[in-house]
Amino acid sequence: LFFYCCALLLGACQSQGLKPSKPADGQIEAIISNMSLEEKAGQLNLIAIEGEPTAEHLEMIRKGLVGSVIKSNGVKDNSRLQKIAVEESVNGIPILFQEDVIHGYKTIAPIPLAEAASWDLEAIKTSAQVAAREAAAAGIHLTYAPMVDISRDPRWGRILEAAGEDPYLGSLVAAARVEGFQEAGRANQENILSCVKHFAGYGASLAGMDYNIDDFSERALREVHLPPFQAAIDAGVSSVMCAYTAYDGVPLTANQYLLQEVLREEMGFDGLVMTDWQTIPNLVKIGVAPNDTIATEMAMAAGVDMDMVAEKYVSLLPELVRSGKIAERDLDQAVGRVLRLKKDIGLLDQPMRGLNPEKEKQELLSEENWKLTKDIALKSMVLLKNESEVLPISTDTKKIAVIGPFANVQEDLMGWWSGKGEAKDVVSILEGIKQAYPKSEITFAAGCKIDKFEKAGAEMIAEAVQVAKRAEVVVLVLGEQYWMSGEGGGTASLHLPGLQEALVDRIAELNKPTVSVIVSGRPYILTEIAAKSDAVLQAWMPGTTGGEAVGEILSGAFNPSGRLPVTFPSHEGQVPIFYSYRKTSHDFEPEDPENRYSTTYRDISNKPLYPFGYGLSYTDFEYGSIKVDQPQMSWEQDLQVVVTVKNSGSRAGVETVQLYIRRKYCEVTQPLLLLKDFQQVKLEAGEQREVKFNLSADKLSFIDQKHQTKWADGAYEVYVGPNAAELQKAAFTFKNSGNKALS
Ligand code: BGC
Repeated sequence: LFFYCCALLLGACQSQGLKPSKPADGQIEAIISNMSLEEKAGQLNLIAIEGEPTAEHLEMIRKGLVGSVIKSNGVKDNSRLQKIAVEESVNGIPILFQEDVIHGYKTIAPIPLAEAASWDLEAIKTSAQVAAREAAAAGIHLTYAPMVDISRDPRWGRILEAAGEDPYLGSLVAAARVEGFQEAGRANQENILSCVKHFAGYGASLAGMDYNIDDFSERALREVHLPPFQAAIDAGVSSVMCAYTAYDGVPLTANQYLLQEVLREEMGFDGLVMTDWQTIPNLVKIGVAPNDTIATEMAMAAGVDMDMVAEKYVSLLPELVRSGKIAERDLDQAVGRVLRLKKDIGLLDQPMRGLNPEKEKQELLSEENWKLTKDIALKSMVLLKNESEVLPISTDTKKIAVIGPFANVQEDLMGWWSGKGEAKDVVSILEGIKQAYPKSEITFAAGCKIDKFEKAGAEMIAEAVQVAKRAEVVVLVLGEQYWMSGEGGGTASLHLPGLQEALVDRIAELNKPTVSVIVSGRPYILTEIAAKSDAVLQAWMPGTTGGEAVGEILSGAFNPSGRLPVTFPSHEGQVPIFYSYRKTSHDFEPEDPENRYSTTYRDISNKPLYPFGYGLSYTDFEYGSIKVDQPQMSWEQDLQVVVTVKNSGSRAGVETVQLYIRRKYCEVTQPLLLLKDFQQVKLEAGEQREVKFNLSADKLSFIDQKHQTKWADGAYEVYVGPNAAELQKAAFTFKNSGNKALS
């Protein structure tokens, strides 16, 4: 019916001599012109079907009132619904199946924050591609990812879902993920559409509490929060999800300034904008709209195209159009965007795209996907400490005690948003260590239990001490349960929950070589744990293959190369904490410890435990001195920044050479450091290489007092090094030879 109508309408347009529009648009316009107001509103309606669809769901689909479905259950269920939509519904338009495929669908990759710690954009893209392949094979068309919210508060549970604290790294990761989901498998229909979220500033929720109010400046919006969205748009992202939060008091779902002026006009986004879960009726809940009808009008006026699960658009829009409150062409425009997505993914031509049970079986958890997922799991882990080179632990070790509440767990390794991942498929860390040490005796004790945040299991510590006593080396596997981070997962304390610190204390008394492996979705305060361990490996929530990856790193089969995408505080009181802070009039003067008037705490140091960009390797890298090829740069001439990096250790390793800049003087206070480039170099033992960066003028822009992007003449510094706290600098000046607006 649907194709028949299209053909008829196209034919009708041509016979009346209307100017032919582009074929893509023509097909979509033809469909729209044949729809009732109810069907149009139906295309904007995204419903949740958890479990079996009800008779009411099926009836809605038949009436053409369901454009998209979330919470689908794989090929079998989706085929049934799709068949009804295509064969039995009034307009025959296929359903767009949407899902949270955040870090894997069935083969679960490390949490996104962990992936960002790889700083390996190709591996990140590949991981998104694996997720897309599996999701596409399970009949999914669109994922609510990537989440690109910059966060500088580890108390906020959703810090695990994005790329950390830095807008530059965050932008590159955002683009890699969008390309991985959308582009990599396009030719074989193994791609899915990507929805970048949460526009904008959700990561600034105050005090780390989820969905909380936030309050940040237009400057922070433009310097920190928008760049990863721009990168996603430039990478061709097809949709944008509004944040639960407000900007400058106006909820995103009703924010005309941000959605129209900024997102569409300035940032050039012409795809689909959707709400987050129920955010239209939320406008009533938070006292911005007096009732659902006005809330619906507000969302539409702001330019929101799709209503996630609130069913307000479908129930209220037709009447709002009839009464003249909403122009039908605005409704048509939104419907056009939905149909364009359906067309982009090939659904209009092949509505049963991806609905092949055989393919689904082959693809999910395939060997290839396992291999690629393990690759990023290995690359995402960050070695934070390795004193007296206790790591790697020799595979000739006779007895290794694996202790801790996260050694023998599976579900927690997947982290929040684990798609259709199943705990039974996850290799626990204990199992991974057993695999990596076939000749060793591996003993285990949980040491304590983590039940909620309660201090349970004290008696188990004594047993763990006994187990540890009999081993040569102790591996402590500590962390948090998967639900402690993630959505709604704010935590006030950043100390590991339960009795874990007490367990570390008791084990440390044995004076055995001790390695702590941390399973977490956020930076925890590891000050005490690091002091009492010889080595610390931040393993994050490493996914299905994570246990194997930990085993391979501990045994030295893989040399760790991850670098922190987020600062690790040494004390909770330092939060929010990030590397790109600005100079104050009262910066701490180390030479004057008596100075009481400084931007420091009276009781603790300002220093983080581990800075942004930090991470160790089993080999050592030495940096030669930084050189720039000229004292002055311009639009015409990039600055070449060169540093020699030598692998002075005894095995091959990967170093991430980071480049930061600082503008020395500016009408607007500037961060002391801003990451602007990095390169990963693999060096054999003894090898050295000149690492060259071309710093181009476009990277020197700043946001002026009127919030315009500007370039200014003057003095700059460029820094190179292994992390944000170990840098060498060189000076240069920039001469803006008239190409761009001068400040
Ligand atoms: C989250 C989104 C998610 C959506 C659908 C919301 O509560 O904020 O990130 O995509 O639910 O599950």
